[in-house]
Amino acid sequence: MTPNDRGIDVRVFTEKAEAWLEENLARRTNESTDSNYAIFHDRSHDEERQLIDAAKLWQGVRVDAGFGAITWAPEWGGPGLTASHERAYVGLERDFAAPERHESVLVTVELVAPTIHALGTDEQKQQFVTSFLRAEQLCCQLFSEPGAGSDLAGLSTKAAKTDGGWRVNGQKVWSSGAQFSEWGLLIARTDTTVPKHRGMTAFMVPMHTPGVDIRPIRQMSGGSTFNEVFFSDVELPDSLRLGAEGDGWTVALTTLGFERSSSAGIVSAGGNSADLVRLAKTLGITDDPLVRQQLADAAIYERAAALLVARYAERELAGAVPGVEGSIGKLVWTQNLKRIGDAAASFLGPSILADTGVPDTFAWTEHLLGAPGYRIAGGSDEIQRNIIGERGLGLPREPREGLA
Ligand SMILES: Cc1cc2nc3c(=O)[nH]c(=O)nc-3n(C[C@H](O)[C@H](O)[C@H](O)COP(=O)(O)OP(=O)(O)OC[C@H]3O[C@@H](n4cnc5c(N)ncnc54)[C@H](O)[C@@H]3O)c2cc1C
Repeated sequence: MTPNDRGIDVRVFTEKAEAWLEENLARRTNESTDSNYAIFHDRSHDEERQLIDAAKLWQGVRVDAGFGAITWAPEWGGPGLTASHERAYVGLERDFAAPERHESVLVTVELVAPTIHALGTDEQKQQFVTSFLRAEQLCCQLFSEPGAGSDLAGLSTKAAKTDGGWRVNGQKVWSSGAQFSEWGLLIARTDTTVPKHRGMTAFMVPMHTPGVDIRPIRQMSGGSTFNEVFFSDVELPDSLRLGAEGDGWTVALTTLGFERSSSAGIVSAGGNSADLVRLAKTLGITDDPLVRQQLADAAIYERAAALLVARYAERELAGAVPGVEGSIGKLVWTQNLKRIGDAAASFLGPSILADTGVPDTFAWTEHLLGAPGYRIAGGSDEIQRNIIGERGLGLPREPREGLA
């Protein structure tokens, strides 16, 4: 893709993309199904590192070819096409054996790069946007704390002003991919004298700065990509402040808005309705009316989620601010993960629990144990329902302590 391809018809674009993918990757075949339904993978640090390196490399190759930052303007290394082009490409790439789109790359490319593009200074945009879009460097999200998750504005990690900069002290938790990231997007409290939403400021933190201590956490589905991150007298220059002093809440909401729309698009994590149909056929239970009902439900909701994401992407491209559609898309997607996991568990019965060596059975535990993660990450299901109720349906607001 070149800047001359701007305005290219989606059909022509798809043909070009398919030809490029054929040249660069092997096509997936039915035989390449490896019965892996994991939502979060159980890998060692070195295995994770290798996957991340492959994902970073592939992102650079995609950007160079015009398929990695499809909706971004040439100034940022993209061809400046529409969300429809992007969707067409993402759908196509699923048919090829591309390196996995690692969560750390997704956070950097889809959450942090657009946040800096929207709210950073010109210098920050030059420093970070292209490099993050190409995944040359990764950036993790340093928002949640032991005492602040859904109620993010309750966070207590402090950044105190020094001569020309800031000194950070405190603790973050659940920081995905922090051990693999060069940068972290941090929200810290900078003023305790104003209502809590107004007393926060955002910073870009080099993760190798003295005083930053990253400790991996073991997940129930295996693997340790989550971390606790401790800050002890971490010195940051003021040039790494993102947005105005006291504007950290805006930065957080912007990133979370991109997160909702992005999460809703990760439809390929874990098993899907086609995997369920295959499982039901293998088990010989496709004549059971209740099984058929579950299969139909899974397929219908999967399709509805895909259409919602598509509609949301079009609205965003037309200039709409991320909002309630992202919450609906995310909720539908996470409910579908649950629906699929529950159906697999009911089809398999006790054999989902024991690794007997029979293919396509125990592998589903990784879906079942991983699904709750995305029902919490990026704003839990209950929080999405609150957003939809209050902002979408205009229901009365929940009482909120300390909100001005
Ligand atoms: C897979 C995964 C990846 C993550 N990655 C990151 C990351 O990279 N960076 C980061 O900063 N954080 C990350 N998180 C943390 C995530 O943002 C928080 O877990 C989430 O916001 C919920 O916060 P909490 O865990 O403190 O739960 P709490 O906020 O304590 O919630 C506990 C329960 O109460 C419910 N609840 C809370 N408030 C309300 C309310 N007002 N109305 C109704 N129900 C409510 C919640 O839905 C939940 O069921 C990740 C989490 C997961 C699971």
